[in-house]
Amino acid sequence: MNEFELIKFLTQKLPRKTKGLSCGIGDDCAVIRGEKFDWLLTADSLIEGVHFDFRNTNATDLGRKVLSANLSDVAAMGGQPLYFTVSIGVPRRVSAVQLKKIYSGMIDVAKKNGVVMAGGDTCASPKGLFISIALVGKIMKNRAILRSGARPGDHVFVSGTFGDAAFALGCLKKKRKVDRYFVNRLNNPSARVKLGRLIADEGLASSMIDVSDGLLADLGHIADASGVGFVVDAGAVPVSGFFSNIAARYGLDSLLLALAGGDDYELCFTVPRSRLRAFLKMKKIIEKKAGCPVSMIGRIVENKRKRIVRGKGGKVLAISRRGYDHFR
Ligand code: ADP
Ligand code: MG
Repeated sequence: MNEFELIKFLTQKLPRKTKGLSCGIGDDCAVIRGEKFDWLLTADSLIEGVHFDFRNTNATDLGRKVLSANLSDVAAMGGQPLYFTVSIGVPRRVSAVQLKKIYSGMIDVAKKNGVVMAGGDTCASPKGLFISIALVGKIMKNRAILRSGARPGDHVFVSGTFGDAAFALGCLKKKRKVDRYFVNRLNNPSARVKLGRLIADEGLASSMIDVSDGLLADLGHIADASGVGFVVDAGAVPVSGFFSNIAARYGLDSLLLALAGGDDYELCFTVPRSRLRAFLKMKKIIEKKAGCPVSMIGRIVENKRKRIVRGKGGKVLAISRRGYDHFR
């Protein structure tokens, strides 16, 4: 059973909608009906040896990243993050100084995003360090943007750039020297909270997800939930200038890293044809307010088996690795 088979099993076993819960397992956050707002609830963990290694991650970044990963899931619903709890399992060898640094990183990101630490739990851990956060956010009633709303003809958009984090991870694993820019993109991602909220406030998107497992894998989750397929234009997938320079210099498969790498923490969303003009009109303002570029990378199609990437001249490209699965 892999990670996604477990989630599928749980989705089938448990009601997706039940009293007060308008979206259960299967999206970036659960959506709970409130009186004035809908509440968003999410949980994400970082585990030593699985998500990070102390040899190439400093403690402050670790605190930053675990909170950012949770913020990114609230961003993916278009919501405003509010409060979080932190559960931590600490091995003996982790010092008080390191622990304080983890929390100072977390508090730094919390302040920047206007969220408040509301509690947590502390245990000993026999081996690796374990940090798990649960985060609550809110959104206007019935405004949460689910993975399941994409329809044929919708345009696919993404924020930011792709592949930097996967490149950094590849270098660190092989003990190669890598520029601080890339390490920062891996260890200190910033969740696109402002962008998510702008998109939800303006009612611009039919579906949205955050990209943590790889762009194709996460767009695949939108396609699964919506019962549709997609066509991505390889040339339109945004990469940073640093990334395209280094890929050209070392002859890397930059497209594979950008499409199938992970840890980008960007947003991927679909805009219906009827909202496209309004969206394009606001695009510059949205980019300025959100502090990141937004790019159109493809279309949603009816055939749910059609999930393809087109290269130059419309040629269909074979991209084999489809993102990160925790049980693989
Ligand atoms: P993301 O990458 O956005 O954090 P995940 O792939 O981790 O999302 O999870 C997808 C969905 O499955 C979410 O709704 C999450 O709450 C749910 N989920 C994941 N693992 C479990 C689990 N072990 N038990 C119950 N629900 C789970
Ligand atoms: Mg997510």
